[in-house]
Amino acid sequence: MVKRQFGHRARLVLTPAQVRLADEQAHAARTMWNLLHEWWTVLPRERRSLAAADAAIRQARKEIDWLGVLPAQAAQAVLKTYFQAWKNCWEGRAGEPGFKARCRTVMSVDVPQGRDLNISRVHRRWGMVTIPKLGRVRFRWTKDLPVGKRADQQNRITGARLVKDALGWHVAFRIQTYDSAPEPHAGPEVGIDVGIGVPLALSDGATHDHGEWLTEKERATLLRLERRAACRKACRRRGEKTSRRLRRTYDRIQGLRARAKRRHLDWQHKTTTDIARKYGTVVVEALKITNMTRSAKGTADSPGKNVAQKSGLNRSIHAQAWGRTVEQLAYKTSRQGGTLVKVPAPGTSRRCSVCGSTTPGSRESQAVFVCKNPDCGWAGNADHNASRNVLHLYRMGLTLVPAAGRAVVRRARRVKPATAR
Ligand SMILES: [Zn+2]
Repeated sequence: MVKRQFGHRARLVLTPAQVRLADEQAHAARTMWNLLHEWWTVLPRERRSLAAADAAIRQARKEIDWLGVLPAQAAQAVLKTYFQAWKNCWEGRAGEPGFKARCRTVMSVDVPQGRDLNISRVHRRWGMVTIPKLGRVRFRWTKDLPVGKRADQQNRITGARLVKDALGWHVAFRIQTYDSAPEPHAGPEVGIDVGIGVPLALSDGATHDHGEWLTEKERATLLRLERRAACRKACRRRGEKTSRRLRRTYDRIQGLRARAKRRHLDWQHKTTTDIARKYGTVVVEALKITNMTRSAKGTADSPGKNVAQKSGLNRSIHAQAWGRTVEQLAYKTSRQGGTLVKVPAPGTSRRCSVCGSTTPGSRESQAVFVCKNPDCGWAGNADHNASRNVLHLYRMGLTLVPAAGRAVVRRARRVKPATAR
């Protein structure tokens, strides 16, 4: 049996009063974090401890009225995440925790204990969940959750978190299941290339394509709103606050972009699930997105070349979100008993997949590849050519050993590790 822990996000249906209450809770949670951070950084090192922080939080909830709207469990969760943030910093996984600004922080409230949630399914498409201080609320049922008779000590929901984005409040469940280990996948091998013409090109000739994320009407609305926002911003006098009208325009822009992103995510999940089900071994290029998308402008001393083209490519790579595709493929293939292999990227789009030679000037355009080797002269789709090269590299045994653990260091560490006692 294999233990699996994952999250599932569902849309909540809240009344305006409940939305206001949830907003208040999220702001209280953020303020709690900020107070905690201030208290922690001001306190002498020898007096910092989990117990002292816990006592300070209890006192703050008693003394400050509006901190009381935050349920006690959620306040404890803030403390826990704060300590975890320092731990991540000391162990080199992240930068120092800092203050959370009102406009730049994702609004969220923790519901750390799964048994308080009391989830039930009331309809084919709807479930009910109990949220502290909000009561019983409806959520969109899109996945079979281990609740009721299906829940036991091993398969259950261990907690949840309320998260707000441009489309409103959502609930993210933390789910734990034990599945039997999958049989090794006997499917074929496939190479995948992140294409310019198509989002994903497979070495067996298949492509995964998608249309525009927004309809023509939605795109027109977005353009109009963006122009209106720019116009209002331009007329604003120096030091003047953002007007309520402008803020409403920003909200509508954000809503449309969030809708596009959600459609993209949906497509990405469906595509990667399809690929993981069909193929036993999936080979991808180990692209360094950060290098490829580094500012094309260069510096004042050494300005970059082809700035416009490169920034267009930057946009398209970001839009296709290749990194997330690889991440999804990694866990989906392993669930199906398959494997994901990464091969070194250089030259895969310039080499001919038939004769194996890299002849200067071989690539005719972004979409068509014509081999300039006089003995070969093969011509075909450039993206399929690259994906066949990717598969070929794997068959030759040129795979990259995945690095152990993911270390993400966003900022240089400025503090010496302090001991939390
Ligand atoms: Zn050739």
